[in-house]
Amino acid sequence: MRKIVIIGGVAGGATAAARLRRLDESAQIIMLERGENVSYANCGLPYYLGGAITDRSRLFVMTPQLFQNNLSVDVRTRHEAISIDPLSKIVHVRNLVDGSEYSETYDSLILSPGAEPIRPRIDGLNDPRVFTVRSVPDIDRIKEFVDSRRPRRAVVVGGGFIGLEMAENLHARGVTPILVEAQDQVMTGLDFEMAAVLHQHMVDQKLELFLSETVVAVAQAADRLKVVLKSGKEIPCDLVVLAIGVKPESSLAKAAGITLDERDYIVVNDKMQTSAPSVYAVGDAVCIHSPLLGTSTVVPLAGPANKQARIVADQIVLGEKAPRYQGSIATAIAKMLDMTVACTGLSEKACARAGLAYSSVTVHPSHHAGYYPEAKPFSLKVVFDPNTGRIWGAQAAGFDGVDKRIDVLAAMIGMNAHVRNLEEFEHAYAPPYSSAKDAINYAGFIAGNVMNGLTRSAYWHQVDSFIKDGSVLLDVRTAEEFALGHIEGAINISNIELRKRLHEVPRGKNLVVYCGVGIRGYLAERILRQNGFDDVANLSGGFKTYEMAMGLKSYHASAVFTEGSGMPEQLAMRSHDVITVDACGLQCPGPIMQLKSAMDKAMPGSRLLVKATDGGFVKDAKAWCNLTGNLLVGMEQNAGIYTAIIEKAAPALVPMNTPMQNSMVVNGNEATLIVFSNDLDRALASFVIANGAAATGKKVTMFFTFWGLSVIRKTENISVKKDFMGRMFDLMLPRSVHKLALSKMNFGGVGALMMKKRMQAKSVEQLEIMMQSALKSGVKMIACLMSMDIMGVAREELIDGVEIGGVATYLEAASKANVNLFI
Ligand code: FAD
Repeated sequence: MRKIVIIGGVAGGATAAARLRRLDESAQIIMLERGENVSYANCGLPYYLGGAITDRSRLFVMTPQLFQNNLSVDVRTRHEAISIDPLSKIVHVRNLVDGSEYSETYDSLILSPGAEPIRPRIDGLNDPRVFTVRSVPDIDRIKEFVDSRRPRRAVVVGGGFIGLEMAENLHARGVTPILVEAQDQVMTGLDFEMAAVLHQHMVDQKLELFLSETVVAVAQAADRLKVVLKSGKEIPCDLVVLAIGVKPESSLAKAAGITLDERDYIVVNDKMQTSAPSVYAVGDAVCIHSPLLGTSTVVPLAGPANKQARIVADQIVLGEKAPRYQGSIATAIAKMLDMTVACTGLSEKACARAGLAYSSVTVHPSHHAGYYPEAKPFSLKVVFDPNTGRIWGAQAAGFDGVDKRIDVLAAMIGMNAHVRNLEEFEHAYAPPYSSAKDAINYAGFIAGNVMNGLTRSAYWHQVDSFIKDGSVLLDVRTAEEFALGHIEGAINISNIELRKRLHEVPRGKNLVVYCGVGIRGYLAERILRQNGFDDVANLSGGFKTYEMAMGLKSYHASAVFTEGSGMPEQLAMRSHDVITVDACGLQCPGPIMQLKSAMDKAMPGSRLLVKATDGGFVKDAKAWCNLTGNLLVGMEQNAGIYTAIIEKAAPALVPMNTPMQNSMVVNGNEATLIVFSNDLDRALASFVIANGAAATGKKVTMFFTFWGLSVIRKTENISVKKDFMGRMFDLMLPRSVHKLALSKMNFGGVGALMMKKRMQAKSVEQLEIMMQSALKSGVKMIACLMSMDIMGVAREELIDGVEIGGVATYLEAASKANVNLFI
């Protein structure tokens, strides 16, 4: 009869014991556990604090009694192994209840001692209000503190999954968590821009985040605590949870002469054997093989611990027939206030550290068919080797469908899959579950296009250098989307208009095309490439990824309630007339377009209750309200659905809080501009304003009169019969925008030339391009009939698209306008 002693009775130890019994009915199995409990759900501890798990007994998967009764395992809780003698195959044990000591022989010994929370050497950590969490008694203490002391604020130190889960569950108990993380991001298995999705979500949910900050002390502050950061900032709080990582409990193994690595993890082979004969080790205390890196790694997670434990039992009982451990690719997932973040394999950072060739694709699809209710966008990034196509890793963040995609990708990575396998990955599809082309397929399509040279990816972190080296950033979204936010310095030609406006795209320069999420950017890239633009790249993940990473979305949804607290539905009901707009499943600019169209039909004072799932809607709705003068009454997020209440402003109440509105808002939604001057700079100003106003949805009328007629004259000389005065004016009126002079410092035309060069250098569109854009966006250009008559300008001399009108035409437009400028 073989005798097996197991040290540690939770994840690895308990699994090994159960498997051993199933394989060998006659074995003597002794499980030593220092603590009071065995086989409990340490992963469930934060949720017991938060209240998702209400029944404490549910934390215990097996009790010592059940182990004894059901599996005939000799479980000895409160028994600590204090030394191992591998040569004699003896474990020395202390009974922690009575202090007695004894020895136990073994045929095989399994070490599953786990890892303990790191406690840095800083002042103040001995305060009883500073907690760590590893075991049931730990969570009991924290829960008791929260129940009895009703703390208001907690500092959670560490942004790994335990820190995040503790923050979430403190939040669930009404304690405001403040998260402090030494790195510039939480969940370091993710690349920065993917972690940034979660950063934004946490901030939106009123969680304070201190990134790139370390705690240097915890001090008493009256009857509270204060956490002192290296930067000098001090955070008052009522309790502190330390979750800065774990260190292996390997001192027992070390004292027994068992080989450890440089970080004190127990070294094991693929049979999970240590350097000592008949001694095996599993779980958080061991370093294991990384099949991706080909080196050793540590993955202190429950999944690997359980799988290793099963293999050890098999090794002990089945010997050579038993499977060997293939290593871990580190697949992890965490939930944070409805949002899920997950990763598997290597990030770009990890590839860079390891010197591996890598490329990546990022997509932002919906978790199921966009037309099926409550489709929620999520972000998926796949990292791969651009030379071989091997998939290195994947990361995802969102409200739904994240776990499914990461698990599929983890399985594929485990089987050394190629990005081509993603293209053909065949999934179970019906609208409530996914789309006919799933996010995983899309990632594969793009990666495949990268590999065969159909597209070249540019990345958010390269944008600064693109701007510096004079590359042209081409935003191919609509003018509306562009107006709501874009990369500084980008020019805007929507992909729909691109074919017609190719002449506006600078040649001979590196072009970086971008759209909202990458699809239209790719379409534009293909148009450009097939029209002789060779140096084109598409910004991976589009403006959404760039914006997430750059933290432009600093707007906090929770901060906009203007009517006290209340659910958006209740806020909406305070108005007489409520219009519901369901924009769920639509990606930008879909929600804003729906909002605009519903608002156009609404009466002043009525309220719109807009539901959207696109995260960009939070910022866009606010920007749109600012631009249009409507009132954003409230915004909230619940399980990935953003609900905004927007009130159509009564004309007299329209706020004047943006630069554009200061000069423009009187009433109505029209703007009129009288262009009297034929100075180049004044003409420029008039078209900048006209296009800007048109982009915000205004109906714009430009009335060209007297000298302003020059601006709309054709370049070519049109032969028209003129009288003497007409011929005189013909000489005085510059022919077309190309001949306009600056109002100041023209220097015989040199100034105007310099201005044009400067505009080109700064990627400002030339006047003629602005004029074309204005016509395309519906700006009405009217030539003043009376001025034409006086100055002898004929209809044929004016550019196409210009209408002829009298003062009455102008006055009619002006009377409806809320802007009337004389330039
Ligand atoms: P443990 O499960 O920690 O068990 C080790 C046991 O050995 C301990 O009970 C210890 O008392 C005992 N022991 C140590 N030395 C001795 C000795 N000399 N004599 C006797 N007994 C000894 N992982 C995930 O994959 N997903 C999650 O969601 C997740 N959530 C977590 C949440 C929390 C709060 C915590 C703490 C961990 C979480 N983990 C999660 C990690 C996961 O719990 C561990 O990876 C896993 O428990 C490791 O198993 P193990 O057997 O190596 O160690």
